[in-house]
Amino acid sequence: MLSRNIKWNEKVKFIISDVDETIADLYVEASPEMITELEKLLAEGKVLFLISGQSIKSIKWRIVEYIRKDLRKRIIVGHCSGAEVWGFDEQGELRDAPFYSFYETELSEEQKKSWRGVIHELVEEFKLKILPTMPISEFAKKTKGDPLSVMLEDRGPQITLEVINGYDLSPEQPEKLEIQVPQTHGHYDLRIPILARAEKLLEEKGLPITPRLAGVFAIDFAIKGVSKTTAVKYVVEHDSILSSLGIHKSDIGNSESMEVWGDKFSVVRGGTDRHISEALPKEVRSITFREEKSEEFLEGYNTVVWNGKEHLHNGLLEFLKTRNSKGFATK
Ligand SMILES: [Mg+2]
Repeated sequence: MLSRNIKWNEKVKFIISDVDETIADLYVEASPEMITELEKLLAEGKVLFLISGQSIKSIKWRIVEYIRKDLRKRIIVGHCSGAEVWGFDEQGELRDAPFYSFYETELSEEQKKSWRGVIHELVEEFKLKILPTMPISEFAKKTKGDPLSVMLEDRGPQITLEVINGYDLSPEQPEKLEIQVPQTHGHYDLRIPILARAEKLLEEKGLPITPRLAGVFAIDFAIKGVSKTTAVKYVVEHDSILSSLGIHKSDIGNSESMEVWGDKFSVVRGGTDRHISEALPKEVRSITFREEKSEEFLEGYNTVVWNGKEHLHNGLLEFLKTRNSKGFATK
């Protein structure tokens, strides 16, 4: 529903943004134009909190390493869905240690190993064909629609399966696979039986890991109780982190000083960006750059759909380019 005229918020100081398809395409670096716009924001003293299911490594090579070194100290990264939050020092280098790590505090070495064992079992049972991560167009060429071909990435505090050809099967496909794929929200989604089996195996092993639907076609295996909410709450409650970014609690005391950007706020079929909104006062504006249905958003939250010509990361770029003009006006 494109019902709002979305103008740049002049009062914003603290921007919390998803990465995949919000700032950059999946497994692809941000465009030079996007980097320029982000640098402008940072140079104005604004803080950018990137929060993603991806690894810190991925966010570094796709975004942070293109940003001017002297500006990086105003960026923090909540990676692996918030399992850890990292920052950058005065020289623009990644700090020696994260601000916190649930990976280190919640899991023993034994459990870390056992978790990998469960993933291996799932791959065997479902006869999944594993490919490394790559841009989606490349994956499409390589796999030619084979639903069992998936990208698997071990990100440390999170393991992700990208079920790109299997999240929206035709009604005939499940029969051929010899896997029971129930219809869920009108889709035959191979992730559903994988998820169910994973839950069982993880429970049997007593592992504090939950598999969740994420992005458009992913299953994230993440640490129990950890979500994008965890990371955002932790940061806004710790003045020591905020001051390392050059701001203080008092700077983000009113809801207009903060803003959330993402592309998946729907509560249907696994939007994880809503978990960012959930960590903040309901009045804080969350903008989705995907054409989502507003009736699927969290009730009572200020979630709005970007109403420009472009969508996803191109939509965000379009939004950023409306700055310094009188604001975006719809026809
Ligand atoms: Mg996203």
